Amino acid sequence: MTEWALFVVLFLALFTGWLLGSRRLTKSNKEELKQVPNDYFRGLNHLLKGQQSEAIDAFVDSLEVNSETFDIHLTLGNLFRKKGEIQKAINIHQSLLARPDLSSRDTRLVQLELASDFMSAGLLDRAERLLLNIASRKTEFQREILALLVDLYEFEQSWDKAIKISEQLQAEYPAKKQAQRLAHFHCEMAESAVKNEQWNVAFKEYKAAIDADLDCVRASIGLADVYMYQRRFRDAIKELKAVADQDHEFVPVIVPMLKQCYLKVWGGAGYIKFLQEQLKKYPSASLIRALTEHYAENDKEFAEQFIISQLRAHPTIKGFQELIDIQRADSSGPDQENLSVLYELIEQLTNSKPKYRCRQCGFAGHQLHWQCPSCKSWGSVKPIHGLEGE
Ligand SMILES: [Zn+2]
Repeated sequence: MTEWALFVVLFLALFTGWLLGSRRLTKSNKEELKQVPNDYFRGLNHLLKGQQSEAIDAFVDSLEVNSETFDIHLTLGNLFRKKGEIQKAINIHQSLLARPDLSSRDTRLVQLELASDFMSAGLLDRAERLLLNIASRKTEFQREILALLVDLYEFEQSWDKAIKISEQLQAEYPAKKQAQRLAHFHCEMAESAVKNEQWNVAFKEYKAAIDADLDCVRASIGLADVYMYQRRFRDAIKELKAVADQDHEFVPVIVPMLKQCYLKVWGGAGYIKFLQEQLKKYPSASLIRALTEHYAENDKEFAEQFIISQLRAHPTIKGFQELIDIQRADSSGPDQENLSVLYELIEQLTNSKPKYRCRQCGFAGHQLHWQCPSCKSWGSVKPIHGLEGE
């Protein structure tokens, strides 16, 4: 429904609400219309002129708060909040709360909406106090209250509090998305610990992330990082290989770390086998490039044939750049210079393209964000595949 249509529906609802509120349904319509408050006609006039905010203000003034009009006021308050007119939303919700005959259920419902208003206004302390107050008693809105508290603590980056409430939410209302979010909260704690070189805390938090969500790629990569720092390269390899099972789209991210680990423990043995296995299942430019580099160390001709065959099956600009690089190394004089110019041009082209994209909102960038900067989803930003990507 468009915003305009919503306003018209609200206008009709207000009119009906006023009629019900007036409790004069037994009298003739003519007589009722005489009783319609002037504010109502003022609102109608604003609506016809397309002045939506003024129209709603007038309608609100015309409508007394009673049990019949409660839902309409609640809807109007939420509408103001969505339009960014937070103070009006707060005024409406506070006037509802002031009603002496409000049931305990309706009181909690309005308090919940008021907490949302406070959050939208950036009054986080007031929102937190209100939500904690309602949450202290078990209510039918427990799920919504806890979810809002998690939003609030996430916004504040109070990860320990966000974890505590998420765990409560997950225990009472388990959901996959919530578990994924909880795992990222633990990863945030782990990354802070890494910055302070608190390796045991980081280890514990990454493990907790995997306990919350077995498919948490971020936790596996983070754990591998901790193991690499502790020179436990075999453990790091195990974690990195787990990423391929958790989400194969992240394999390009782990290839450089995996190479580093394999070179430390087995002189690279096992690394090529892993790349070849992954290439069969999920070809990507990073895998093709890594294998081409390996083949080119011993047999440039074989490496060239390999990349040409891969480009036919899986064409990417990065793969083409790798081919130019091999041919450049084998050439000399003007040919080598021309190939170098071409290589640099492709390098500039690939550097100008985003490498990661959010699967939720389409946000694209050069960095891997675990929380999308645009839509705020967790774990939805992944490497871009296709001709210009992997
Ligand atoms: Zn997004």
